[in-house]
Amino acid sequence: MISRSTIDRVFETARVEEVIGEFVQLKKAGSNFKGLSPFVDEKSPSFMVSPVKQIWKDFSTGKGGNAISFLMEHEHYSYPEAIKWLAKKYNIEIEETEQTSEEKAQINERESMFLVSSFARDYFHNTMLNSNLGKAIGLSYFKERGFTDETIKKFDLGYCIDEWDNFTKAALDKGYDLKYLASTGLTIVKENKQFDRFKGRVMFPIHSMSGRILGFGGRILTADKKAAKYLNSPESDIYHKSKILYGIYQAKKEIAKQDNCFLVEGYTDVISFNQSGVENVVASSGTALTSDQIRLVNRLTKNITVLFDGDAAGIRASIRGIDLILEQGMNVKVVQFPDGEDPDSFAKAHSNAELKEYLENSAQDFINFKVSLLLKDSNNDPIKKASVIRDIVTSISKIPDSIQREVYIQECSRIMEISERVLFSELAQLLKKNIQEKSKKASRKQSAPQQDPNEPPPEYFMQQESAQMGLVKGGLVSTEKIDELSKYEKEIIKNLILYGNEEVEFTEDVIDIDENGKESIVIKKYQNLVSTEIYLHLQDDEIEFSNPVFQELYSTIIHQLNQLEKLHINDLVNHSNPEVRDIITSVLMDEEDPNMRLSDWEGQNIFVTNALEVLFKAIPDVIFNLRRVLIDRKIQELMKEATENSAINIDLETIRNYTNLKMRLFDKLNRVV
Ligand code: ATP
Ligand code: MN
Repeated sequence: MISRSTIDRVFETARVEEVIGEFVQLKKAGSNFKGLSPFVDEKSPSFMVSPVKQIWKDFSTGKGGNAISFLMEHEHYSYPEAIKWLAKKYNIEIEETEQTSEEKAQINERESMFLVSSFARDYFHNTMLNSNLGKAIGLSYFKERGFTDETIKKFDLGYCIDEWDNFTKAALDKGYDLKYLASTGLTIVKENKQFDRFKGRVMFPIHSMSGRILGFGGRILTADKKAAKYLNSPESDIYHKSKILYGIYQAKKEIAKQDNCFLVEGYTDVISFNQSGVENVVASSGTALTSDQIRLVNRLTKNITVLFDGDAAGIRASIRGIDLILEQGMNVKVVQFPDGEDPDSFAKAHSNAELKEYLENSAQDFINFKVSLLLKDSNNDPIKKASVIRDIVTSISKIPDSIQREVYIQECSRIMEISERVLFSELAQLLKKNIQEKSKKASRKQSAPQQDPNEPPPEYFMQQESAQMGLVKGGLVSTEKIDELSKYEKEIIKNLILYGNEEVEFTEDVIDIDENGKESIVIKKYQNLVSTEIYLHLQDDEIEFSNPVFQELYSTIIHQLNQLEKLHINDLVNHSNPEVRDIITSVLMDEEDPNMRLSDWEGQNIFVTNALEVLFKAIPDVIFNLRRVLIDRKIQELMKEATENSAINIDLETIRNYTNLKMRLFDKLNRVV
């Protein structure tokens, strides 16, 4: 276990904007930062980070929290993993306390797979650098390829010794479970025999965006024609090749900085480019490009440059995948290398400056590139030309921006010598088809969860409920039909979070009797913290929140008040229940849609000042309103009971009492309002 003092230091040091900046491209917006939500596909930014409040809020999903919870949501880290990641980032030494056997058992399957993968990375790396065989075979291979020590270290390159189970034995010796060696595919288990999947290969560890080891690629060193030149980890719980881009971990900062990402084919291309000083480069590694892979880049930049080898067959094969990039609204350029060259060999054969110059000068807009490539193929054959036109317009139809589509149509009309009218009508047909396909897909998705109508998943209900309360989609929206009770409960929670520590002068009507026995109402003034004031009132009436998440949050707040006499918002943002965190960040980040209110964010101060001035009235108002609704409900319940059970004692007395109470309340409300 990580010691308390380490955790405290991490909390003191970590800056939410710096942490999130490693995963999301953030732009300054007033006193905040904004960016594209890393949790959904979107075109306009709805993800907000507040350096002042040290929180983030994703208005598309309603998620929110602090630096720790971001790492937990985004990287799927456990709490201690998130702490460790931050400690590493900020060079904080981790003090560990002993792990109990229970805690050890809690490390789940995926974690164990990550652990064994990270051991493998270290083992292969160290074997290559320190053992005789490693140096003689693995290291010398990379050196021959021209990779420097620095590069080898940066990419954690390694070597798996050419014996049956050299690695597996070492891992078992260290106490790693064979189960995870097998599930990660590092070890192949056959009839009680175990051997190393990657034996005799140089190793390319594959990192996640945050640097965890997901899997490996291994290159054979012999000229064995039967064995595959490159071998990858098999699909597993941690390795999904369609969601991985090789090099993204090493490239992410530079991609955001350069606002462009080079996409190449393989490991060696990525590494050679890095060594030539072009670091914003990733590879799809032997698979056709997928939407998930593009999404990884889309978080960091809107611009992709796809690099093609000289060989024409390869280009035609990969050109289809590029429509997926256009679909995500990204700008695509392509660079073609001279015949017989790939990015790796080109980088080797040229100086850094020459490489950069080549990339700059030969980058071509993708659509134009595709047009000229296909036109060359069609040799003016009218039938072929018709299919080329359809192919190109298909690509254009994937672009979400209508103006951009129009510009391309005009340009294609010029290059292909075909009328704009024809192209536009082709485009219109395709757009219609795209929309139909999309809605088909969407309806398929929607019907999926209803497979078993008797057993909807529990989250379904929670979502329904929160949607009614307006808590979904960026928080406290008032468009939905919100019932009155939740409205006032929410308002109380909001006041607690925003103004709980404000000291306010409240007033109270008290009946004063003078010496002559004459009654009069006087206004008594008293100071209280907003939180204390709310607490005292709710306690008086034994009010509980009907919304369980509110109740949980409220209990936490009250607990804090009792212990610390003040509200500690930072602790609340760190609440273990994500639903509680989401509510707190919603309130702290303002409930408005950021797309419409970006310029207003600064202006929030004015709102706050005004709100402070009226707290003395707003707090009693909302408490009275809540009481009124509760009494109304109670009366309705009793009435209903009375009509349903006409034979049994009707508790008219109680109903009358409640009605009286309500009258008194209204009376008081009128005076206060
Ligand atoms: P060579 O030294 O013969 O050029 P290489 O290691 O550079 O070999 P290439 O055949 O040039 O590999 O391929 C370039 C990139 O394509 C490699 O870095 C690798 O990532 C990828 N690649 C090549 N062959 C395969 C394969 N069979 N499976 C997966 N990826 C491959
Ligand atoms: Mn090569």
